[in-house]
Amino acid sequence: MPYTYDDQNIFAKILRGEIPNDTVMETEHSLAFNDIQPQAPVHVLVIPKGAFVNYDHFVADASDAEIVDFSRTVQAVIEQLEIAPGADGLGYRLIANSGEAGIQEVPHLHFHILGGRVLGRMLP
Ligand code: 5GP
Repeated sequence: MPYTYDDQNIFAKILRGEIPNDTVMETEHSLAFNDIQPQAPVHVLVIPKGAFVNYDHFVADASDAEIVDFSRTVQAVIEQLEIAPGADGLGYRLIANSGEAGIQEVPHLHFHILGGRVLGRMLP
């Protein structure tokens, strides 16, 4: 399926340096930054630098290097923020809203990493 990428979306502007962001981590192919409207003490967005609308688009068209970099960046942020699950009751939630039914607001792939408190139950 063809994917149409709108290069005027807000994360594309962040990647081009046209609007500022609060960077948590940057790698060759990925950028992690704090969400502007955090829903938890930790609310970081991780995006690939490539022009991908959503996860489906990313897996279909990204290089192996981009996919590995993105996955490792998500994990490195979790480690850096010390929210990885452990005996001390920590943990996090990883979300990628995708498409209209998924209520995706910004049409550039992003994973939300939420943590830093006990998160409410999301699914019945
Ligand atoms: P979505 O609903 O697409 O999964 O989530 C988009 C997220 O991007 C929201 O949590 C929203 O707060 C965040 N966001 C929107 N605009 C900006 C911005 O300009 N800067 C940052 N850091 N986050 C933004």
